[in-house]
Amino acid sequence: MSAKVLPLPRLALPVFEKGSVWLVGAGPGDPGLITALGLHALQSADAVLHDALIGEALLTLARPGAQAIDVGKRAGRVSSKQADISRMLVSLARKGRRVLRLKGGDPFVFGRGAEEALALARAQVPFRIVPGVTAGIGGLAYAGIPVTHRDTNHAVTFVTGHGADGKLADLDWASVARGAPTIVLYMARRFAGEIAARLIAAGRGADEPAAVVADATLAAQRVTVTTLGHLGEAASGGDAPAILVIGENVRLREGLDWLADGFQERRAVG
Ligand code: SAH
Repeated sequence: MSAKVLPLPRLALPVFEKGSVWLVGAGPGDPGLITALGLHALQSADAVLHDALIGEALLTLARPGAQAIDVGKRAGRVSSKQADISRMLVSLARKGRRVLRLKGGDPFVFGRGAEEALALARAQVPFRIVPGVTAGIGGLAYAGIPVTHRDTNHAVTFVTGHGADGKLADLDWASVARGAPTIVLYMARRFAGEIAARLIAAGRGADEPAAVVADATLAAQRVTVTTLGHLGEAASGGDAPAILVIGENVRLREGLDWLADGFQERRAVG
């Protein structure tokens, strides 16, 4: 399928130079959430190395003839795969390609983008970071949950539930509990019950509102509103990517659920 080129030149965006790598955030799922700079990169790149979760719709916008490579990590091979990806980026750039590394959400938020960028810096390959809409902000917005609100929180904490070793993240959970009124958790489905227990032990209320937003911003998006005391059960149903959020902000969804269940969204095609 040939991509229709959008009139992006009017934006005077930076030129994607040969032999360079752009690490681009694709946003959490809805293809409309990629940035104009990300789209420009897709329309210029010679090679697109993307995660497994990147939707087909975005990939069809790549320049005709561009090489698409799915480098989605498989369980159990995470660390070696990561090194392979960095090596591939360096080697394609050294062949003079314009290399696009397309990652879910924002490349610098729990996405190992910094590791890849450091490998490029070490290899003296020029690179650019194109930020994206992160799931912990944009995904919650699609559930009608603002990450900050003047009446509820002046701070928010973003946490990963998983450590590099696949175990519960090695964090001072009592400090997390006392830190910000709103806590947003990535990669936390498996350990949600344990995390909730630690937060409650450190003084957070078991009846505090919490929510699980699975497949956020996609047609399959599912939002489960619960309490901190029941977060473990709520998070355990399914293995779709999910953001967990704890705090009074969750109640705002009652008035802000703009993408309500059953809302027939019309999508422009063509
Ligand atoms: N760089 C990404 C995060 C990668 S870590 C970002 O900025 O969003 C992967 C985790 O992100 C998943 O385990 C999940 O917690 C979250 N995530 C990514 N896409 C999501 C989606 N569409 N819906 C809900 N959570 C998502």
